[in-house]
Amino acid sequence: MSIHERHRLSMVVNARGTFTPLGVSRSSATVAGAVAEALPEFFVMEQLVDRVSDAIAHATGAQAGTVVHCTSAAITLAAAAAMAGTDPRRIAALPDTRDMHNRVVLPAVHVVDYGQSNLQAIRLAGAQVTLVGDENRCGLDDLDDQLDGPDVTCLMLVCSRLTSGEPLDLTAAVRAAHRRGVPAIIDGAGQFPRTADLLATGADLVLISGQKYLGSPTAGLVAGTRRMVQAVRAQGNGIGRGMKPSKEALVGVLAALEEWQAMDRAKWAADQATKVSAFVAAAAEIPGVVAEVVPDPTSLPLSRALLKVDDAPGLVRELEAGTPPIYVMAERADTGELMLELVPLDDTEIAIVLDRLRILLDK
Ligand SMILES: *Cc1c(COP(=O)(O)O)cnc(C)c1O
Repeated sequence: MSIHERHRLSMVVNARGTFTPLGVSRSSATVAGAVAEALPEFFVMEQLVDRVSDAIAHATGAQAGTVVHCTSAAITLAAAAAMAGTDPRRIAALPDTRDMHNRVVLPAVHVVDYGQSNLQAIRLAGAQVTLVGDENRCGLDDLDDQLDGPDVTCLMLVCSRLTSGEPLDLTAAVRAAHRRGVPAIIDGAGQFPRTADLLATGADLVLISGQKYLGSPTAGLVAGTRRMVQAVRAQGNGIGRGMKPSKEALVGVLAALEEWQAMDRAKWAADQATKVSAFVAAAAEIPGVVAEVVPDPTSLPLSRALLKVDDAPGLVRELEAGTPPIYVMAERADTGELMLELVPLDDTEIAIVLDRLRILLDK
């Protein structure tokens, strides 16, 4: 009996990407094996965290790294680290920030909702958020002015396809912060393959979801300067207590990083491209479907399949109502567009998706 049958759970064909309500990603057999090996064991947790820190630094080129429960926690604890540093009195005082610089500067184009607004993840540390610009544009001049204001503790930036408006030059934004002596943090939760690019902006911390493109158990990877990473780690004796990583997550991250480093990345990207173009060619044969390959807007090394159909919201409902339910990206269904991410899908699942599309559309 499968785990789904045993607990009376719905099967899922996930063409919706690294989506938290669907279980995010598939871990490899190697990662799953490492987690199973870790669960019945004891560890000196400090040692385990040290090993993972070394592995993150090695894999990303950062000075140092650490792990917290997830990226949402990493956002909160990065803000806490900027405000309290490693000072035990300040760490214990949070989220009371009365005697600290407590303003986090965030471009309004980088306000995102991944199930929670990142504004709340920042405010959870006791920080105040100062937004710069509007949802269409954040000018570097405006950013410069706000970074020069009183009580600024850090600049928070987001690299995600969820951001709005005109893209902001992250390197220029980080430079503007550093000119004022302000640390810069980038939330790149869904950007694991691009961690080195994000670090190359000069950011003090880059925050990455382990469970998205790394395929580890739920974990928030923090990569950056020794000083800031140490400050994030120090929050574990304060508000970070409820955001700590589990031993199985730490061991899972170690295994997933090892696998990533041994992997042939050019072959991976080529395989993904082949998968998407074959799917798009097959989907384009279905009457009433216009299909296209769309590159990832944030330069991740993957593309997605865009389908244009007459009644996209209706098709989304029918796909989810079928057996097994098929989930697709439906953010732009109102304009007749569906997007499918095929990264975790095997050939059988891709055949299920194509068959279902044929049945539903070829009436
Ligand atoms: C997914 C996501 C998060 C939250 O990551 P978790 O690891 O699920 O907490 C934060 N920011 C962005 C941009 C995301 O895409």
